[in-house]
Amino acid sequence: MSRPAYDAVVIGSGPNGLAAAIEIARAGRSVKVIEANDAPGGGTRSEELTLPGYVHDTCSAIHPLLSVSEFFNTIPLERLGIELAHPEIPYAHPLDGGRIAVLHRSVELTAQGLGSDANAYARLMGPLAKNCQEIMDMFLGPIQLPKRPALMIGFGLRAIRSIKGLGSRFDTDEGRVLLAGAAAHSMLKTSQVGTAGFGLGLAMTAHAVGWPCVVGGSGRISEGLVAYLRELGGELELEHRVTSMAELPDARAYVFDTSARELASIAGDALSARYRRAIRRFRYGLGVFKLDWALSEPVPWAAPEARKAGTLHLAGTVEEMAAAEASVRQGRAPDRPYVLFAQQSVFDASRAPAGGHTAWAYSHVPAGSTLDMTQRMEDQIERFAPGFRDVIVERRTMSPADVEAHNSNYIGGDINSGVQDIRQLFTRPTWRPRPYLTSNPNVYICSSATPPGGGVHGMCGLHAARLVLRRSLGVSAKQAEVAKKSRRIA
Ligand SMILES: Cc1cc2nc3c(=O)[nH]c(=O)nc-3n(C[C@H](O)[C@H](O)[C@H](O)COP(=O)(O)OP(=O)(O)OC[C@H]3O[C@@H](n4cnc5c(N)ncnc54)[C@H](O)[C@@H]3O)c2cc1C
Repeated sequence: MSRPAYDAVVIGSGPNGLAAAIEIARAGRSVKVIEANDAPGGGTRSEELTLPGYVHDTCSAIHPLLSVSEFFNTIPLERLGIELAHPEIPYAHPLDGGRIAVLHRSVELTAQGLGSDANAYARLMGPLAKNCQEIMDMFLGPIQLPKRPALMIGFGLRAIRSIKGLGSRFDTDEGRVLLAGAAAHSMLKTSQVGTAGFGLGLAMTAHAVGWPCVVGGSGRISEGLVAYLRELGGELELEHRVTSMAELPDARAYVFDTSARELASIAGDALSARYRRAIRRFRYGLGVFKLDWALSEPVPWAAPEARKAGTLHLAGTVEEMAAAEASVRQGRAPDRPYVLFAQQSVFDASRAPAGGHTAWAYSHVPAGSTLDMTQRMEDQIERFAPGFRDVIVERRTMSPADVEAHNSNYIGGDINSGVQDIRQLFTRPTWRPRPYLTSNPNVYICSSATPPGGGVHGMCGLHAARLVLRRSLGVSAKQAEVAKKSRRIA
């Protein structure tokens, strides 16, 4: 029998696909990545979307997860040109009348700004920020018994709550919006169990490691990972949208960094009917409408602290935010949407020509919505930054359909490749202890449709690759570690 051309073929070059390929190549095995687009990176790309010289993050922009990810912690980021730029303030949440809730790196400083909520905030967030890495290891890792059960039970009991319930410990609007604005990234109802976990998890990373962007754009992440993969002997083929297994080179294992739906369509009969039925039951979430701007000057925020923040949650009070998100879930785009806004050029000067600035934002919309949200989103920004429209030089919009056309993993504009509620977070896209395995022993899935879900952390890829090595390539964890040490290109 002839030897397969590759030990593994990875379909899709998002951060998880590249992480899987790197882990396999580091174990001394041959690997090829096949990507549909003309550039690698999936959700980690940057382009001049508006005007020449203005660098925008096409998808992901803010990268706390890089710093807490076991995968990225083994990558020589600096040598590969992946440099983090930190804003003075990780994130803030403006309110009417020039008021603002500010999350500083320091828990104490943050608490001081919350008036009568100072003690409640410091008591809640102090221990979490201190133990952030350990908690994130648990959250980003495979399901396992915790090393420090008391710490995890303490976090779990708070995280399992709804953000609405957790918010009841705060008296002020500022105290309540600070965590609720972060929890809203999850796209879930504020009354839904587990939403507190998103708010606490994201706020905890903001304190512990900051909410940075990547100097020069998120595309530097994929450029760096591709360079590293090539150093390790891995290959990359671009502009090849895989539609069937027959197109793929002969390999011992196939690893899909695609949506679960696309895996089922490509692999077809190579997967059992039962597995494909389970994939059909996997639920997709809301879409996003995205805007990028080239600006003639910084955003004229009413609250001075907002000018120093990397990310801003624009939604008003918790009640307004809940109403806006509820309306999206009912299939109606809200008049005053929740706008997730980042101003990278304020802390990364490489993003725009001298004097110019960039901004990035998205709002949640019904999946596949065709409504142009530009006016409503800009109205919401104007509410907290009067005169914003006067500094716009150029804008670029991306509807949910554009987001999906750019990357087929984002079905209906769902940037997490599947709802991330309590039923679909820890085991996705199917219910099994190791959801990276499919019904076919040589076919794996490694995209954010698997745990730990959306975000640029590469951990879905790392977990899948470890299984590929052990089960399809006969490389034990110990052998992989030895090979990795001997091949580590620091
Ligand atoms: C607008 C937006 C904003 C975001 N903001 C953030 C943020 O600020 N911070 C953060 O951490 N995360 C953010 N995310 C989420 C993050 O980008 C994703 O969770 C992450 O990129 C998922 O990585 P992945 O490798 O699973 O898949 P992806 O990055 O989606 O990559 C999948 C790749 O597979 C390719 N592919 C799919 N099907 C095929 C096929 N049939 N043949 C060949 N190739 C195929 C695609 O073209 C794509 O390149 C954002 C996403 C979007 C869209």
